[in-house]
Amino acid sequence: LATAIKQGDEARHASLHDPLTGLPNRALFNDRLEHGLAAANRNGLHFAVMFLDVDDFKAINDALGHAAGDMILRTIAIALKGFMRRPGDLAARYGGEEFCLMLPNITNEMALEIAERLRLSVENSPDYKVIGIKRVTISLGLASIQFGINNPSELINLADKALYLAKNNGRNRVVVWNGELDSKSQAISV
Ligand code: GH3
Ligand code: MG
Ligand code: MG
Repeated sequence: LATAIKQGDEARHASLHDPLTGLPNRALFNDRLEHGLAAANRNGLHFAVMFLDVDDFKAINDALGHAAGDMILRTIAIALKGFMRRPGDLAARYGGEEFCLMLPNITNEMALEIAERLRLSVENSPDYKVIGIKRVTISLGLASIQFGINNPSELINLADKALYLAKNNGRNRVVVWNGELDSKSQAISV
């Protein structure tokens, strides 16, 4: 029985995590987001979501190979784990080269500061040396419940929208969705 339970636990863990990075996958993230957001709304606390996408990752794969690309994704995952410091913080591999973070009970200013530090940390990891490159840039989009967003998919959509603006504004930057029209979103350049 103990073996069966253990196997069940392992299967459950595998179904909720990404094998390459060990991070929670999209299903687990969405589940936690729903609960985290509900708790934030109940308690009147702040809550931020961040979307992160590797810049020009296809070109990196093409130039250095898929294994090098995988190594970059693992390096980013390790950096992300290092930024999960408070209860409820969660980083997930959301899709191919996209990661999502939730930061409960945090001000927009703090979330932006974390996003910016994360961007620099990923950019300058010494681990890239083994694949012969100096840096890898990422773009980040940030959204929070500040503007009355209490629906998980809406919050993700807004973070994704901010990410799209970061890409359009030249990549390698953080954009905060600030409740205004797209064109007025605050772009934080490097
Ligand atoms: P952008 O700056 O606009 O984000 O450009 P991009 O090249 O990063 O975007 P695009 O969506 O064209 O490419 C994403 C690439 O990510 C394509 C896909 O092959 C690669 N990818 C997805 N999952 C993995 C993975 O697990 N390992 C590796 N090595 N590559 C992956
Ligand atoms: Mg992408
Ligand atoms: Mg990309």
